[in-house]
Amino acid sequence: MRIHLVTGGAGFLGSHLIDRLMEAGDEVICLDNYFTGRKRNIARWIGHPRFELIRHDVTEPIKLEVDRIWHLACPASPIHYQTNPVKTAKTSFLGTYNMLGLARRVGARLLLASTSEVYGDPEVHPQPESYWGHVNPIGIRSCYDEGKRCAEALFMDYHRQHKVDIRIARIFNTYGPRMCEDDGRVVSNFIVQARRGEDLTVYGEGQQTRSFCYCEDLIDGFVRLMGHDSLTTPVNIGNPVEFTILELAEKVIAETGSKSKIIHKELPQDDPQQRKPDITMAKCELGWEPKVSLEEGLKPTIAYFQQVISESCAAS
Ligand code: NAD
Ligand code: UDP
Repeated sequence: MRIHLVTGGAGFLGSHLIDRLMEAGDEVICLDNYFTGRKRNIARWIGHPRFELIRHDVTEPIKLEVDRIWHLACPASPIHYQTNPVKTAKTSFLGTYNMLGLARRVGARLLLASTSEVYGDPEVHPQPESYWGHVNPIGIRSCYDEGKRCAEALFMDYHRQHKVDIRIARIFNTYGPRMCEDDGRVVSNFIVQARRGEDLTVYGEGQQTRSFCYCEDLIDGFVRLMGHDSLTTPVNIGNPVEFTILELAEKVIAETGSKSKIIHKELPQDDPQQRKPDITMAKCELGWEPKVSLEEGLKPTIAYFQQVISESCAAS
């Protein structure tokens, strides 16, 4: 039995990862400061003898004895990470530095939840891991994009200099139940708007593209990457099927049966125009590729948001 530390464990992806680790019979420590995470996401494990919950901010050092560290702590949606950009950069840099120090001290393997944002507004399409990216270093997204690029650099240097056993997952847009209904990300926004009968807000013309991965597929990729015995360079984990944002809006309207209309709003600054992972490395090295189509993944996600909306209506 292994002892896992999951930073950001009360968040969307962290809580799905914890489900997977707990179901495998391992011991799990969930560390979170609840900036965007919620106790309800991990409520089913509170009180379980193999589960421990620590309220802690990763920008502060911590001493624990663990075998595996999954480092997810960082706000992920533009609205949240731009709320306090200095804190976002600190979380990426200091949080990652603290986790690397911990991994080095106890000899744990450490996985970083990095992001496709390291490619910025890419000029190479689809994006392979070898592409260095096209990031605005001084724009409103740079606290997150450059924060994660710095986290990757720290990972590689701790590996080269101190032989820390690292894994780096570059996650492309991932969605599913337990996303925050108000975090402004496109899938949650569109579903909540459609369910409430509000207009769906497409930014710009809606011709920008994203590739959407269902959370269960993402967690499969994560677990395979952590289990790999030597792959220390970054690996893209995402769904390579590409949609325009307008197509996504139309799909959400169709899947929810909503009468909502689509309206257009101003495109945010530095919004990447296209994004699609080249997953050749994940396929060859991890034997991984996503299995859940957007249509299939939207169904449980819509059901989740329906429940959240009904609960909040009943409470008010
Ligand atoms: P999320 O906001 O639901 O989860 C982040 C978690 O980290 C939350 O529980 C939050 O409270 C916690 N956290 C934030 N700052 C912290 C701090 N200083 N100390 C301790 N805990 C802190 O987001 P998510 O979608 O689950 O993303 C998880 C990770 O995956 C993030 O690192 C994100 O950058 C990365 N990622 C996610 C996506 C995606 O599409 N979901 C894409 C690329 C990368
Ligand atoms: N977007 C949109 N309407 C919304 C929210 C987002 O058109 O209500 C667009 C956004 O401009 C971007 C895409 O959807 O082009 C994905 O946005 P998200 O914030 O989910 O992720 P990211 O930009 O970080 O990939």
